[in-house]
Amino acid sequence: SSNFVGFIGLGNMGVKMAKNLLQKGENLVIYDIRPINIEQFETKPKPIVVDNLKEVARKSKYIITMLPSSDSVMSTYTDDDGILKNCPHENAIFIDSSTIDPNISKEIWKLANKRGHLFLDAPVSGGVVGAEAGNLTFMIGGCERIPEYIEKLLLKMGSRIIHCGSSGMGQAAKLCNNMLLGSTMVAVSETLNLGMKFGLDAKVLTSIINSSSGRCWSSEIYNPVPGVLENVPSNRNYKGGFTTNLLLKDMKLALKLAEKTNSSVLLAEKALEIYNNAIVTKGIENSDFSIIYKTISEKK
Ligand code: NAD
Repeated sequence: SSNFVGFIGLGNMGVKMAKNLLQKGENLVIYDIRPINIEQFETKPKPIVVDNLKEVARKSKYIITMLPSSDSVMSTYTDDDGILKNCPHENAIFIDSSTIDPNISKEIWKLANKRGHLFLDAPVSGGVVGAEAGNLTFMIGGCERIPEYIEKLLLKMGSRIIHCGSSGMGQAAKLCNNMLLGSTMVAVSETLNLGMKFGLDAKVLTSIINSSSGRCWSSEIYNPVPGVLENVPSNRNYKGGFTTNLLLKDMKLALKLAEKTNSSVLLAEKALEIYNNAIVTKGIENSDFSIIYKTISEKK
């Protein structure tokens, strides 16, 4: 029946977002290319787990995707056995919260539009902490005003919805943000490491930064030094957050936009180089990106 919401991509972010929807009364049909560990969903009612995209499309008029890459989003939507070609509903609404190339969003928007459906790029900020707390920010492209039902749905996972413009503009906003995030995480790591090497306590220095002009998300919400904050990846050996691989994907997409628009991004280029080198020398690609602090602090 069509009162199911489809959810595709149950990774670090997707599981937490889906759990909030379930806890707030939504019926979910979920699918991931990897077998889903249903034990992760201890809540009742549990979601319906299916093993193919057609089944998600058939059961749900509204579908959310939370996938790792432009390619995985493109194939999920446009393959012969993907969700666009197998959608039996009229005026279906697709919400892609992955971070991908804005041009791919535009392409899918057009294909959906031809079939009478709406495709929104709706990437999020707030990280796994925000996904768990249900206070993500959604950046919407592809629609001037989203339908009320969709607004309610998104507000079960987030606390803010910002309309950015035409299709792809949500993604553009997200990429700008993540380019900055990549730089601030390196900057916070270098700063805390410097202070600690001189003998300052990481918590003391952090609390000064957070009440001073250096304050930012990387220092305040997602501090990279183990022991400063409790519920963050740095405090669990950099597991279960936002992988360096995914950050690099976003920074590269942002640099692509910079090239297109002839914008100067020297600092971001340097930050990208720092992450790339750390991947080569330390193999940090599958750890949370705040592990860059560890690489910096271990550097002789
Ligand atoms: P993840 O790698 O943990 O999860 C992605 C999930 O998608 C995995 O479970 C994977 O098995 C599944 N998957 C891959 N290809 C698939 C396919 N073709 N069909 C169905 N399922 C498929 O990634 P994540 O950290 O949850 O991030 C998801 C997206 O959200 C990425 O685009 C990322 O850039 C973005 N994002 C992540 C964060 C974060 O803090 N982790 C924050 C904001 C945005």
